[in-house]
Amino acid sequence: VDLLQYNTRFERVRALMHMHGLDFLLIGPSADLVYLTGAHLRTTERMAVLVLPQEGPATVVLPAFEAPLLPPLSDGVQVRTWDESDNPARIAATVMSDSMHGHPGGVNITVGVGERLWSVFLLRLQAELPRAAFTPATMVMSQARQIKTSDEIDLLAHSGAMADEVFARIIGWPFSGRREIDMAGEIAALLEAGGLLVEGVPIVASGPNSASPHHHAGERVIRTGDVVVLDFGGTYKGYYSDITRTVFVGGRPADDSEEMRVYQLVAATQSAAVEAALPEMQCQELDSVARNLLTSAGYGEYFNHRLGHGIGLDGHEPPYLVQGNDTRLQPGMAFTIEPGLYLPGRFGVRIEDTVALQAEGAVRLNNADRGITIVE
Ligand code: ZN
Ligand code: ZN
Repeated sequence: VDLLQYNTRFERVRALMHMHGLDFLLIGPSADLVYLTGAHLRTTERMAVLVLPQEGPATVVLPAFEAPLLPPLSDGVQVRTWDESDNPARIAATVMSDSMHGHPGGVNITVGVGERLWSVFLLRLQAELPRAAFTPATMVMSQARQIKTSDEIDLLAHSGAMADEVFARIIGWPFSGRREIDMAGEIAALLEAGGLLVEGVPIVASGPNSASPHHHAGERVIRTGDVVVLDFGGTYKGYYSDITRTVFVGGRPADDSEEMRVYQLVAATQSAAVEAALPEMQCQELDSVARNLLTSAGYGEYFNHRLGHGIGLDGHEPPYLVQGNDTRLQPGMAFTIEPGLYLPGRFGVRIEDTVALQAEGAVRLNNADRGITIVE
């Protein structure tokens, strides 16, 4: 583990705290915590929080018996444990006032709160710091995390390549006669066998279920003639992959069928959006590239979600490619491009690749076949 990278991340985050006028960050177990310390902790009813002042050492406050869960920490991070009968919010507040040389009650300080810190912990911290102002840490953490280093892009690329390999394997499986949920379990097992960690259940959405973008794989038995949307990924060293492909069961749909027309439209739109992505473009402009193509083909109303989302230590993170988001794309950002069309009660098609943005444009981190794919 290269602990020096965490010092670099601290510097970046502290510069952003300065820019946004935040004196402290309070970060619960989350990808933000992993980003800053490498610590993978779970949120439980026992408070664990990173207290990061704009200057001076950071402190992880956590239950004493969970201290063994911490990885080696960089020099700038101390550990303050609490015992079962202690008040952890008070301890965190004491850590903060110590770092401000004893200002009681957080007079005139502004505290950025991580998105994944449970509200019950925030309420207790607010009670201990009645004079402090609290605000989301989102601006700081998302600005820091959404520009990836080349090492981070390499991890995302490796994660993506492993998901691609899984797709190449599963299209050799029989689909017809199998339950969605069983196939989802086997896809997860194959991802894990390839070295990815899988949280949750892959999407296997067959027949009319494919018209539900976030369908939960269920009891439905896949049949010949079905369209099947497969959306899956996992993490490699904490970094996510996310890919979607849509396959046809039992035979190629007729060239003049709506299934074929929709598939080819989605595939062409996905390619056009990947090719259009450039630094300085607004997130909503890239969404419009896809949305305008689908709308002018008469299908706009069936594209009922955003074009994509950032990806990294979280599966969904900024930047979000959505109308209303004027964030400008920058080299080093990684995000998905996943247009889809969903015809209620009939079928849906989605094609998703994760991409990394470079100065010249987007580079795909998924390269699994995007052509018409027939499975048995
Ligand atoms: Zn996906
Ligand atoms: Zn996605």
